[in-house]
Amino acid sequence: MIGSLEGEWLKILDQFKGYLRWQQEQGLLGLDISIPADPQSSKKSPDLEEIRQWIGDCHRCKLWRERENIVFGSGNGKADLVFVGEGPGAEEDEAGEPFVGRAGQLLTKIIEAIDLSRDQVYICNIIKCRPPQNRNPQPDEIEACEPFLLAQLNALSPKLICALGTFAARTLLKTKAPISALRGRLHAFQGIPLLATFHPAYLLRNPLEKRKVWEDMKMLKQEYDRLRMPSS
Ligand code: SF4
Repeated sequence: MIGSLEGEWLKILDQFKGYLRWQQEQGLLGLDISIPADPQSSKKSPDLEEIRQWIGDCHRCKLWRERENIVFGSGNGKADLVFVGEGPGAEEDEAGEPFVGRAGQLLTKIIEAIDLSRDQVYICNIIKCRPPQNRNPQPDEIEACEPFLLAQLNALSPKLICALGTFAARTLLKTKAPISALRGRLHAFQGIPLLATFHPAYLLRNPLEKRKVWEDMKMLKQEYDRLRMPSS
């Protein structure tokens, strides 16, 4: 009985934190949005492991019903560059790892083309569970999962973010603009430079757009090198 009450309390606390975060994102609150690792303490932001524990066997949106695995994220937890995609597909759902299917292999090539490796960056998605038939994520699903993404970015504290595709760019930049209008220039996410580009899955369907992504990647690498230069 006590265990189930505690579970209920933690669930309510999670929902309340998500609500506070949403209010803060909307500019309605001037609160610090860092999420405490320990519900009793507000002193420390959670690290990636604690965030994964916080997600638990998540049922916060309807996507839990058909998923095999929660796809949290992978790569270097101290990365300066984080790629944020849309959501897991079939292979990712099965493996529990982001970007391992055909689109993932293309992303690996894109990362290597700018002289980096997957071990040097961190890769995650805006939603952690696969939408049925790989449909687009729906607004309520993005909203339910967003606190986890924000907590991940808070824990990673990258110097640079690359948003892959419409949903990642729109979610992070709080805009409804199409990716074609957002790509090709630097934006900012909570003070962190952010470059948006086409999702690798879109590139597989539209190979003629690869040239634009290559232009974006050159800009990303230039900014990456600039941000990593020791200040004189
Ligand atoms: S998509 Fe996110 S909010 Fe929805 S069930 Fe999965 S982890 Fe939870």
